[in-house]
Amino acid sequence: MSSAPSSDTLTSRLDRIRSRIAESCDRAGRATDAAKLVAVSKFHPASAVEEALRAGQRLFGENRVQEAREKFPALRDAWPDLELHIIGGLQTNKALDACRIADAIETVDRPGLVDALSRAGDRLGHLPALYVQVNTGDEPQKSGVPRADADRFITLCRQRFGNRLAGLMCIPPEAEDPAPHFAYLAKLAHEHELMGCSMGMSADFETAIEHGATLVRVGSAIFGNRPAP
Ligand SMILES: *Cc1c(COP(=O)(O)O)cnc(C)c1O
Repeated sequence: MSSAPSSDTLTSRLDRIRSRIAESCDRAGRATDAAKLVAVSKFHPASAVEEALRAGQRLFGENRVQEAREKFPALRDAWPDLELHIIGGLQTNKALDACRIADAIETVDRPGLVDALSRAGDRLGHLPALYVQVNTGDEPQKSGVPRADADRFITLCRQRFGNRLAGLMCIPPEAEDPAPHFAYLAKLAHEHELMGCSMGMSADFETAIEHGATLVRVGSAIFGNRPAP
């Protein structure tokens, strides 16, 4: 890979993404700050997260609880208003740890995990904001609740978590036009009177904002290509 020009810094990439988010909100007739940026820092070192923090970014996403535990507690000490979202598939036995370190878990997708999160909430006396991940493409290898079960599962989560249930999240199939998936997720959220819609990544966050995303999860467009895990 050729070396990046010096103007291509993490700070400049972050600024550029922020402007594109604001412009997309504008174009969609939404408030300029209607979609929040989750900077996805998975596989990147704490030093990269710090650079983003110095550039004003406060909200981060991590896939793995273990990696988040290694990186974020020290950062949080230095930057108390930092926010962390868990955006990767969550094992039941990691639910308690996830609730300890995260401000939101975006990947609630099965009854066993609902039970584990309920127990964690009882034990800690609080729960992070929770998002139901919907497998909008019904892809067998992907986490998320299948479309056919989404209504019932969202209703279950509402019963168990009340207003801790913040919204829905999806990752459309890679080879498909994401727009119909975003439209479906936004409609489902609306039907369940949920305000939060986490959708859109580096390649398609502008489309997601057009369809009502309130959170966009952008990794490589900010931090560059991910080093191998
Ligand atoms: C890695 C990841 C992202 C960020 O993807 P980019 O294409 O690098 O922006 C967003 N959401 C989830 C769930 C991810 O795992």
